[in-house]
Amino acid sequence: DEPLAVAGLTPADRRRRISAALDAMGLDPALLDRWPHQVSGGQRQRAVLARALSLDPSVLVLDEPVSALDVSVQAQVVNHLAALARDRGLAMVFISHDLGVVGHLAHRVAVLYLGRVVETGPVDAVFGAPAHPYTRALLDAVPVAHPGLRRPRRRLQGEPPAILNPPAGCAFHPRCPLALEICRRARPGLAPGAAAGHLVACHLSVNAPIPAEV
Ligand code: SF4
Repeated sequence: DEPLAVAGLTPADRRRRISAALDAMGLDPALLDRWPHQVSGGQRQRAVLARALSLDPSVLVLDEPVSALDVSVQAQVVNHLAALARDRGLAMVFISHDLGVVGHLAHRVAVLYLGRVVETGPVDAVFGAPAHPYTRALLDAVPVAHPGLRRPRRRLQGEPPAILNPPAGCAFHPRCPLALEICRRARPGLAPGAAAGHLVACHLSVNAPIPAEV
């Protein structure tokens, strides 16, 4: 079956819609007549995004959409995505390891460790005053774009444990420089942080509930 968004369209309508989607991603509609090996990696990545846009979605889930691109092409694609979100009211779930891109694009952020959210909230609150030790370590690892500037780095020790066999208590405790005894026994739930809408799963968080013993 055809998706509802394209059912009933004539070939000319489809070509117009595809051209509009290419245009929205800053691609020349002349690319329609090329094979994948005849376009660059950045153009292929934008063509994939254009294909998703051609169905006129209200939500896009983007999993590492720019990680394979070089920095200048990344910036172009990210700026196109930001403009689309603004102009079309398009919601995006943007999954990325690149916190610089996330900070540039997102309104809200959720930080996951071993498949669980450990901190979430408005980007300004989470990036401006990170409350979870894992978030702080991730932000410390973001390169500073100035050769004369360095920020103090809290390097994470050890490797992430197997996701299918996470440690008891707080899954981050084997690598956490602030771990307490309770962290080995009880998993912290998400509790309100300092700002509105900011939630943190850490026993050291100011509003952390008294943990139930396990
Ligand atoms: S709950 Fe304990 S181990 Fe987990 S992040 Fe907080 S201080 Fe570290």
